[in-house]
Amino acid sequence: MPLHEGPRRAAESRLSVNPFYGPANPLGDMAEAPPTHRLPDQPIAPATAHQLVRDELMLDGNARLNLATFVTTWMEPEAGLLMAECRDKNMIDKDEYPRTAELERRCVAMLADLWNAPDPSTAVGCSTTGSSEACMLAGMALKRRWAKRNADRYPGARPNLVMGVNVQVCWEKFCNFWEVEARLVPMEGERFHLDPQAAAELCDENTIGVVGILGSTFDGSYEPIADLCAALDALRERTGLDVPVHVDGASGAMVAPFLDEDLVWDFRLPRVASINTSGHKYGLVYPGVGWALWRDAEALPEELVFRVNYLGGDMPTFALNFSRPGAQVVAQYYTFLRLGRDGYRAVQQAARDVATGLAGRVEALGDFRLLTRGDELPVFAFTTAPDVTAYDVFDVSRRLREHGWLVPAYTFPANRQDLSVLRVVCRNGFSADLADLLAQDLERLLPDLRRQPRPLTEDKGAATSFHH
Ligand SMILES: *Cc1c(COP(=O)(O)O)cnc(C)c1O
Repeated sequence: MPLHEGPRRAAESRLSVNPFYGPANPLGDMAEAPPTHRLPDQPIAPATAHQLVRDELMLDGNARLNLATFVTTWMEPEAGLLMAECRDKNMIDKDEYPRTAELERRCVAMLADLWNAPDPSTAVGCSTTGSSEACMLAGMALKRRWAKRNADRYPGARPNLVMGVNVQVCWEKFCNFWEVEARLVPMEGERFHLDPQAAAELCDENTIGVVGILGSTFDGSYEPIADLCAALDALRERTGLDVPVHVDGASGAMVAPFLDEDLVWDFRLPRVASINTSGHKYGLVYPGVGWALWRDAEALPEELVFRVNYLGGDMPTFALNFSRPGAQVVAQYYTFLRLGRDGYRAVQQAARDVATGLAGRVEALGDFRLLTRGDELPVFAFTTAPDVTAYDVFDVSRRLREHGWLVPAYTFPANRQDLSVLRVVCRNGFSADLADLLAQDLERLLPDLRRQPRPLTEDKGAATSFHH
């Protein structure tokens, strides 16, 4: 029984606009509710507009309970302040905002150093709106390099890109938009990401590159980038085909350098031509920033580069957009400066500790089988144990949602469409305390779930349409 009880009468709900929203006169203003799908005829007061928009947004989920997203949902107030101060700066106006341009340049230099570019002073790179744009740019560079090498056959020959079936949708977009054949290595048995040998076997004279993912959005595992490069080295010895590798490090390129220093996945491998990351994932910045870097100028064909005015000279740029906010780039520089290597290591280690701890607790419940343990990306995937027949992962996802938790359930792609999983993404801000509450909620649901006659989620189609 709740302690506070209001009147028993059903509350009357008549107003779509609260009279108080009229700034001066509660009786007179806002007699007419503004339309939602047509530009209103009349202006309204800013405070009223603010309140109306805000009220509607209350129904958005609680970001901290969203374990589906990789994207940063919390930054320090100081970062928020800087972003507010920079929201009017247009990234493309290098001439007008030379210091913002300089901060972008420093971020690229820091990443080139972090990812062990052979010569950070000759590595080239740029900020983007996220990894999707960065992947488009990297894919375009691969395609253009291939087209130049094969000028006698292209147009005519159809370029292809080799990657695991577990790639993020941005690679399907790239292949679709830029008319490149996607050659996908399927999952096999308990292997849920790219197999280096199978990738090498799919390569031919029209392969523009192979994408390796650090790590996979499906289960948080790192793909074996060094083995992939070795398989492609062997391919070159056998056939003369020299296929470059792009590393999609949307998440892992900001985790591995701090937590897995011995893992060789970056520009230390000569075959790695380019790397991307999402500044707004484990780069720890609010949505709207990614990075693409090429090991040297040779890896990025000069004719793709555009030049904009910069202090009387010009500055090279590579981007799909023209205008873009500068605030996220400033926030990235702030975060690099603020945390340094040790700070990033501490934050990512905390996320990994939460992920591995929670994975262990889920395993201990006995009803689930872990596919990954959160010890690569701070992300783990699990499914129901073989003897669990009363419910499935979709039921678990649906029931957790009743407690406010967003834990997606989805089916794996070829050749493991028989396997459906739940995935938990641990980010900065998802504390050990919150993980504790999630584990408790999950445990409390189990008796109910076990009593089900059979799995109950009817619309599995909708449930599996989750996008990675
Ligand atoms: C998130 C993600 C992307 C897309 O990145 P955005 O920053 O959301 O555009 C691409 N690849 C991988 C592996 C990802 O995890």
